[in-house]
Amino acid sequence: MHGNRRYHAPAVPLLKVEYQMISAPASENSGAEIFHVDDRTVACDGGDGALGHPRVFLRITDRDVVCPYCSRHYILNDGAGHDTGH
Ligand SMILES: [Zn+2]
Repeated sequence: MHGNRRYHAPAVPLLKVEYQMISAPASENSGAEIFHVDDRTVACDGGDGALGHPRVFLRITDRDVVCPYCSRHYILNDGAGHDTGH
């Protein structure tokens, strides 16, 4: 009876990592919708579904604005919103 049973650690490393290839969508803003508007003031309520939120008014100061609630992207149409009479 040899009490000293030496256990040999397996030579095969246990680091068998299965890399999960997360297929990221091509668009960087996944799920975000893009709306082209003609007015610099946009009223957004998120629409239907989980992204719905109280209506807020977004002001397009440059060329586009992103709703902080639902990440909708509003892009001002070319030739629209020229506030020359400001
Ligand atoms: Zn919104």
